[in-house]
Order: sequence, then C-alpha cells, then structure tokens
Amino acid sequence: MVNFYKVVSYLRLLHETDKLPLIITDIYRIFVGKRIIEVVVFMKEGLNMEKSELNWPSEFQSALKGKCPRCRTGDMFEGPLLSLSSKKMKRVCPCCDLKFEKEPGYFYVAMYVSYVFVVAQLVTACVGTYILTKNLDSPWLYLIVAVGVTIILAPFNYRYSRIVLLYWMTPQFKFKPEWYKRCMERLG
Ligand SMILES: [Zn+2]
Repeated sequence: MVNFYKVVSYLRLLHETDKLPLIITDIYRIFVGKRIIEVVVFMKEGLNMEKSELNWPSEFQSALKGKCPRCRTGDMFEGPLLSLSSKKMKRVCPCCDLKFEKEPGYFYVAMYVSYVFVVAQLVTACVGTYILTKNLDSPWLYLIVAVGVTIILAPFNYRYSRIVLLYWMTPQFKFKPEWYKRCMERLG
C-alpha cells in the first residue's frame, strides 16, 4: 500500500517548490483513534484555469476588437475601425480605468510597430502589383500603389500598432480575470 503521508508531503514539497502547479483547495484532518489523517484536496492549476478561461473573451479576439488588455471589456478607441468620425484613442479604459499611455511618450514605441506593418504592406502591395501587371518600366505605378496603400491602411496601422504594443509588448498590462468579472458586474 502507498504511504499516504509520504504522498501528501511529497505533493506539498512539490507545490511549495513550484515544481508542480497544484492548487491546494482544502485540507481535512480526520481523527481515527489516536491517529490523524490529513486529506489534501488539490487540483492541477492548468485544468482549473482552462475551465474558467472558457468564459473569458480570448486574447486575440479582444485585441482584434480593440478592447482594453487588462479587463477585455472596455473599448480602447472612441469609434470602430471603419468609422469616419473619431479614430481617437481613449485616455483611460472606461471600465477598469487603466491608463493606456502608461508613461508620457509611450506611444512613440507604437511607431516602430507601425513601421514594421507599413514595410510588410508595401512589400506585399508592390509584389502584388508586379504579379498582376508584370510592369517593370513605370516607377510611377509603384509609387502610386505605395502611397495609396499607406493612406488607406493608415487608420488600421494607427490602431493595431497600439493594440500590439499594449497587448504583447507591455507585460504590466496583462489580462486580469478579476477586472473582467468586476467590469461585467458593473455593466450588469
Ligand atoms: Zn479595462
């Protein structure tokens, strides 16, 4: 028979040294005659997380919709991507009050992200133009395509460079399920 005490203390040791992501949910002490039996109820962290994550909006979807990275509920921008009126970004999240520009000038970093987007788009547009027209004589064609693509995709680049920056390059802005819950409660 397995020595129960040894198993429990081993699990505890693993848990304390973080080698096994276990959450100890309950510890019962049962007295059997003069002996005390300790029952440790635990669950694997991963399993538990997955279950509750099902109720949260996914990271990718929230980013795509321009939701706040911390609560995934509040909108980061005033209007939708294709709106002609306001493309402005909100200063703080309307749900969890996260200040999006975490320090003055932080969005300059988004310009580098935007730069990567623009280069990728220009290369794609120019290669696409060549494949479609086989034109290598007119530099004007490529110039017009490049300028056109840059102008048309500017709102996209503005928005998504900031989203990429806040979602994947700012570790402090990690998703907090508590905030999601609180925001959903607030919205009723
Ligand atoms: Zn928020």
